[in-house]
Amino acid sequence: MTKQIQAIRGMNDCLPQQSGLWQWAEQVIREVVAGYGYQEIRTPVLESTELFKRSIGEVTDIVEKEMYTFEDRNGDSLTLRPEGTASCVRAGNEHGLLYNQQQRLWYMGPMFRHERPQKGRYRQFHQFGVEVFGLDGPDIDAEVILMSARLWQRFGMADKVTLEINSLGSSEARARYRDALIEFLTAHQDKLDEDSKRRMTSNPLRVLDSKDSNVQALLADAPDLLDYLDAESKQHFDTLCERLAQLGIQYRVNSRLVRGLDYYNRTVFEWVTDALGAQGTVCAGGRYDGLVEQLGGKATPAVGFAMGMERLVLLLETMGQAEKVPSAVQVYLCLMSDDVTAYGFKLAESLRDQMPGLRLQSHCGGGNLKKQMKRADKSGASVALIIGDEEAAQNKITLKFLRQEQEQRSVPVAELVATLRQVLED
Ligand code: ATP
Ligand code: MG
Repeated sequence: MTKQIQAIRGMNDCLPQQSGLWQWAEQVIREVVAGYGYQEIRTPVLESTELFKRSIGEVTDIVEKEMYTFEDRNGDSLTLRPEGTASCVRAGNEHGLLYNQQQRLWYMGPMFRHERPQKGRYRQFHQFGVEVFGLDGPDIDAEVILMSARLWQRFGMADKVTLEINSLGSSEARARYRDALIEFLTAHQDKLDEDSKRRMTSNPLRVLDSKDSNVQALLADAPDLLDYLDAESKQHFDTLCERLAQLGIQYRVNSRLVRGLDYYNRTVFEWVTDALGAQGTVCAGGRYDGLVEQLGGKATPAVGFAMGMERLVLLLETMGQAEKVPSAVQVYLCLMSDDVTAYGFKLAESLRDQMPGLRLQSHCGGGNLKKQMKRADKSGASVALIIGDEEAAQNKITLKFLRQEQEQRSVPVAELVATLRQVLED
């Protein structure tokens, strides 16, 4: 037998039984961002490798070991995007959307990182994110956090996630903190894992982001980032905290929160959950006021976040929210003979004309009533419409309820739309 070709490890198919939940989640997201006047931006999945090296930072997990990088046929180094922010900034600069303007943008799509696949961690995964340019906050920081909070509410999981926030301050403040941290880490070198030892000098703040439990335990005694904040960043952070409190958004200040990418400054935040085991971060973001300039544009303040769609969908599944997803088919049309096929198809087209959004499936492949009703049931429809020779001759339809204890009815074709509207409503 010919050997079957398998998908690439860590790259998942989204099968029909899952895609409904994905579409529902995506729809909720689209509604929420629209409610704040954000506009979608779509960028290519491939970019110059340089873009990610310069933005995410050379000494980060992503750039050091997770990127899918290759040479194309021209010998150019390309990388499958590992995240969305760099591409948004690149596009914004390239098309003159950023300087002296305000942009509130969102995106959704696949990202690629060569990580060890496990629950909630894949090599192709999907992110929804927002990026705001031209506003230096803290009001806009509060807005994007508020928007993420609204999403949890809409998903019915407000009590499953908690918000952690921190401020990284200015680059000068971070430089001062960096010195203090290096001193601390040097004194405890023996307790550091290899990665952390290496980063201790090249990019010490990355050590705070270490996943090693010994390192994490050690860090409890490390100097506190918040003690090193510059006055302006402190004011910014205090105001943000005040706004969140006024808006009724609960948060926890976590002074170890630094995020895994180099471009952040001032506000950083994560929404975390303990419902997914080790992969607890479902949404993460912050301010990146220096990035636009770093990528060749004119200095423009910016803030954003990214949400991991797989982790979101996993959460929705564990909470039983999948049941909320409407079934793909509402109405199943049974056609009892060849002679009524064209009649039935035409009727179905006319129903689709008159009831936009109706999810109607017509039976194909013939068979007796028992077989067709089995199909109808399997389709998830709540109602079956049956057309045989007799019905066609009398311009009537037999309507059968599939999920309710109710007598079947004979409905004149002229009344079918009104009847369906009423029946599908309850
Ligand atoms: P983690 O600490 O879990 O590795 P990260 O700091 O690398 O996350 P970001 O780069 O900030 O994550 O990405 C934002 C969100 O995207 C994460 O909070 C997570 O929900 C999701 N995400 C990141 N990497 C993956 C992955 N490999 N598979 C699935 N989702 C991911
Ligand atoms: Mg990561």
